[in-house]
Amino acid sequence: MVSFGEVYVVVLTAMALVALAAALPVLVRIVVDGRERWREGVPDAREQRSGDADPSDPVPSGGWRCGHCGTVNERGFRYCRECVETL
Ligand SMILES: [Zn+2]
Repeated sequence: MVSFGEVYVVVLTAMALVALAAALPVLVRIVVDGRERWREGVPDAREQRSGDADPSDPVPSGGWRCGHCGTVNERGFRYCRECVETL
C-alpha cells in the first residue's frame, strides 16, 4: 500500500523537475549573460541611458524591437521577453 506521504513526495519531485526543465533555457541565458558582463567588466551602456531620448532608438515608444519575432521589449532588457533571443 502506497501512503499519502509517498505520493506527495513523488508528485512534488515530478513538478519540480518539470519546472526546472522549463526554466533551464532561461537560466542558461542568464549565466551566459552574467559571464559576458563579468568579462567586459563594465555595465551595459544601453541601460545607463535608459531615461534619455535616444535618436537611434528603433521604436518611438522607447522599446527595442526583437529582430527575431518582432516583439517590442522595454529598454534595458538584453533578451526578448517573447522568444528569449538576444536583442
Ligand atoms: Zn523575440
